Amino acid sequence: MSTGPNLAKNAAAQQGADWQPGELPKVDYGEGCYVFDTKGRRYIDGSSGPAVYSLGHANTEVNEAIKRQLDRIAHGYRYTFTSDPLEELTAMVAASCGGGLANMTFVSSGSEAVESCLKIALQYQTSIGQKSRRLIISRERSWHGNTMGATSISGFYARREAFEGAMMPSNFLSPANVYRPPAGYLAQSGGKIDPVAVGAYCAQELENKILELGADKVAAFIFEPVVGAAGGCVPAPPGYARRVREICDKYGVLMIADEVMCGAGRTGTWRALEHDGVEPDIISVAKGLAAGYVPLGVAIYHSRLKAPMFEKYGGLLTGHTFTGHTLACAAGVAVQKIIQRDHLVAKVREDGLYLERQLRAALADHPHVGDIRGRGFFWAIEIVQDRTAKAAFDPKLAVYQRLRDTCFRNGLICYPVGGNVDGLAGDIAIISPPFIATRGEIDEIVDILKTSLNQVLKEIAP
Ligand code: PLP
Repeated sequence: MSTGPNLAKNAAAQQGADWQPGELPKVDYGEGCYVFDTKGRRYIDGSSGPAVYSLGHANTEVNEAIKRQLDRIAHGYRYTFTSDPLEELTAMVAASCGGGLANMTFVSSGSEAVESCLKIALQYQTSIGQKSRRLIISRERSWHGNTMGATSISGFYARREAFEGAMMPSNFLSPANVYRPPAGYLAQSGGKIDPVAVGAYCAQELENKILELGADKVAAFIFEPVVGAAGGCVPAPPGYARRVREICDKYGVLMIADEVMCGAGRTGTWRALEHDGVEPDIISVAKGLAAGYVPLGVAIYHSRLKAPMFEKYGGLLTGHTFTGHTLACAAGVAVQKIIQRDHLVAKVREDGLYLERQLRAALADHPHVGDIRGRGFFWAIEIVQDRTAKAAFDPKLAVYQRLRDTCFRNGLICYPVGGNVDGLAGDIAIISPPFIATRGEIDEIVDILKTSLNQVLKEIAP
């Protein structure tokens, strides 16, 4: 097994790693793309934690902006005050979204953002006299959050199984995944995979489901334009999002893009669906919005939805104590200003091609890497037992957990997840570096990932 130069360099920093699997080290401080624990061990953040820390750690400009705001006031309650940070961030997010996506409500997490999107969809349908439209359609192998509504519409077995029986009705479609198309598609195509045809087949499932449930019963369809944790950076097949838009328009169903993980520049465009040339009705954005400096999310909705809701109800019927939190918005403004000033979305687009090249060069021929997929700075490798059959490893081997531990021991933070094949089997590792990562840092991440993967495979299949 090769030990790359970066792993060797990191080994020194890892000396004395005395924690056991399942035990967590204590975080001490961060510096750009690196995180240090209280024992002085260094980790390169190859996934921006859970695809959050777009500007890396301890950015002094963001920290200064937060301190300045805190010295003035932390929070002006939304029923009492508006604020400069709230208004400035609203204008910045609207400009970044473009088109009619100009209205929004700020919240404190991705789950709250999704929850708000669902409530906006339902409130809108009620406002236009369509109160029979109460159902939400979503997809298997998706994750929309930990609150009850968001978990109800999430196709993520391990995270919802314990709550089964107590959730909102769910209506799932197949995942739109070119590497693993729906069985019905494969039966129809004789096993041949044509990405455009996979997209058309999956979009047709949406129309079929709307007709099955009754078009007058369906409020919205929600999906991740590039699936995150539940699938492993799965971009929509070509043409899929456009066809979904047409179907939603045909049946009066609202299109919700959950961009909590893939939005705010992560995939090389500010809105992930920009890539597909599609404007949804409602979007959730969170993780990268304030880049983890302060919790912040947002539910954004199209101008055409606003008038009916405001005429009937005088405003949105969703919100929390911390909605539009002044300090959180100030952090969001500081982060988004740096992203704009330093052209970081364009950098992600360009260096994303480099990241892809390096991942493919290191792992495309690996006998246990079945797929490498993603966009921008949002990539995943799918680990398989057998490449031809695309067979996953036995979930009991917990390959993804072993990989997480081994990478961590070797000084790399990445984001491995299991269950992407059928809810139980499947092992993926997400690589989603901070937008500021240099090419040298990208090389270091790929190098440690490859070495760690080989170490894990030697352990389970010596
Ligand atoms: N939606 C997507 C696509 C996510 O990836 C996540 C979190 O991983 C959420 C919603 C929930 O966000 P949070 O964990 O901030 O509540």
